[in-house]
Amino acid sequence: MSDEIIYSVVVPVFNEETVLSELYLRLTQIMDQLKENYEIILVNDGSTDSSLEIMRKFHQENKKIKVVDFSRNFGHQVAITAGTDYAVGKAVIIIDADLQDSPEVILQFVKKWKEGYEVVYGVREKREKEMFFKKLTAKIFYHLFNRISELEIPVDTGDFRLIDKKVVNSLKGIREKNRFVRGLTIWIGFNQTGIRYHRAERYSGYTKYPLKKMFKFALDAVFSFSKLPLRLATYSGFTVAAASCLYLLYVLFLKLFTERTIQGWTLLVFAILFLGSVQLICLGIIGEYLGRISDEIKNRPLYVVRETIGMDKIQGDS
Ligand code: UDP
Ligand code: MG
Repeated sequence: MSDEIIYSVVVPVFNEETVLSELYLRLTQIMDQLKENYEIILVNDGSTDSSLEIMRKFHQENKKIKVVDFSRNFGHQVAITAGTDYAVGKAVIIIDADLQDSPEVILQFVKKWKEGYEVVYGVREKREKEMFFKKLTAKIFYHLFNRISELEIPVDTGDFRLIDKKVVNSLKGIREKNRFVRGLTIWIGFNQTGIRYHRAERYSGYTKYPLKKMFKFALDAVFSFSKLPLRLATYSGFTVAAASCLYLLYVLFLKLFTERTIQGWTLLVFAILFLGSVQLICLGIIGEYLGRISDEIKNRPLYVVRETIGMDKIQGDS
């Protein structure tokens, strides 16, 4: 086996002390089968449990395990980005720590990569025992996203994927702050294909994606790849304007040609509240884009690293 690293496996870790040992066993066992040199980059995304100590032990046992330790929690998408920034392999594999994505599927990813595909993503065929609510919202989200965005994301894919060095290099050039990584890898292009797999149950522990994080994730996805929300403001403006013109004609007609007059109180209150809320929503939409523009202009680094363990060279956030 040559010294050159062929595969880099990137694992974002946030308070996963209960799954790390099992992950280590299953992942190294699968990677060893490939008979080529590899590294496993564990990105500690500000865990407050003993995850980091466990990772340190892994590195002492096995120098293929490397660690990037964040100074605090920066979020799943940023942790993945850091992992790919540090990865030196010719193919980078992104996998969740909780073993919902079976390491065994990596063998199929690699086969496709060797056939010439530059992005191989996992398509979740069956989602074991995941919360109904999560599955439902994910389905709605992907269908909606594909309708309104400039991008077509295969339904039921996650970040579990293999990406070629070329794609990783392009990804390194994209430093946008509120990132939706799976969207970015699709946006980059190249030859892509999917592998269907059964998404297992979380091995242990609980989800690190509470509703609030899920909501931010969905908003990031939409606002980074669609301008439709902005256009909706324009459309609703025109619609309300047209409706009010028609209504004016109706009122004039009643006034000029009939004895009836409009009793207006309820309608007036309705009109004020309705238009007020439409305006507030539109302001909110503009605010979402504005906030993101502000994040870009501030141009803070995506993440801050406290220390790296086992890395050959010091690479910072570019
Ligand atoms: N994760 C992370 N930072 C976070 C939240 C999650 O690094 O702020 C990691 C987590 O440790 C796991 C992966 O991202 O490896 C996916 O999280 P999780 O399995 O909790 O999400 P779910 O599968 O429930 O959507
Ligand atoms: Mg999970």
